[in-house]
Amino acid sequence: MERRAGSTKLAPAGFVVERAEIDTDCVFLDVRATAVSATCPCCGTSPLRTQSRYLRQAADLPIAGRRVFLRVTVRRFWCDAVLCRRRIFAERFGADILAPLSRRTGRLETIVHHLGLALGGRPAAAFADRLMMPVSNDTLLRVVRRRTEQSRDERSPSSALTTLHSGAVSDTGRLSAISNAAGR
Ligand SMILES: [Zn+2]
Repeated sequence: MERRAGSTKLAPAGFVVERAEIDTDCVFLDVRATAVSATCPCCGTSPLRTQSRYLRQAADLPIAGRRVFLRVTVRRFWCDAVLCRRRIFAERFGADILAPLSRRTGRLETIVHHLGLALGGRPAAAFADRLMMPVSNDTLLRVVRRRTEQSRDERSPSSALTTLHSGAVSDTGRLSAISNAAGR
């Protein structure tokens, strides 16, 4: 079944849904960025000339018991800045929306991360599967490790020390528990 979806809040911020295809087990949402242009990662200008487009697929939060996949139309732009070394670049969406090369949206990865912290490797993977967010044990561990390292980098040394001295369980301790539960 195919439906014209129009502008909705089905997709993450910054995207508009152009079309929805509802299958027995899955929903495919064709989306594109609402921004007129993108910023060149090299020189910071925002060109308007589109060079080409390509499709990228990423899993998103489930809807009504169905898995959801975004089919994102990504634009490539010419950079016309005279002194810029980049001639062509692809638009990016921000790590919390859809990180470069990621196969999951930021909001789905956040839930996967919290399931991993709360339940541990295999139980979290089994629960995620029941929630129509299938993720392998290895992927789950990778998500928890990456986000733990990111939060550690962002946290100041003084706040990290305060947390340890207060007796709270550190992220490293949680990660060890998850790895042990996964048999690693
Ligand atoms: Zn440039």
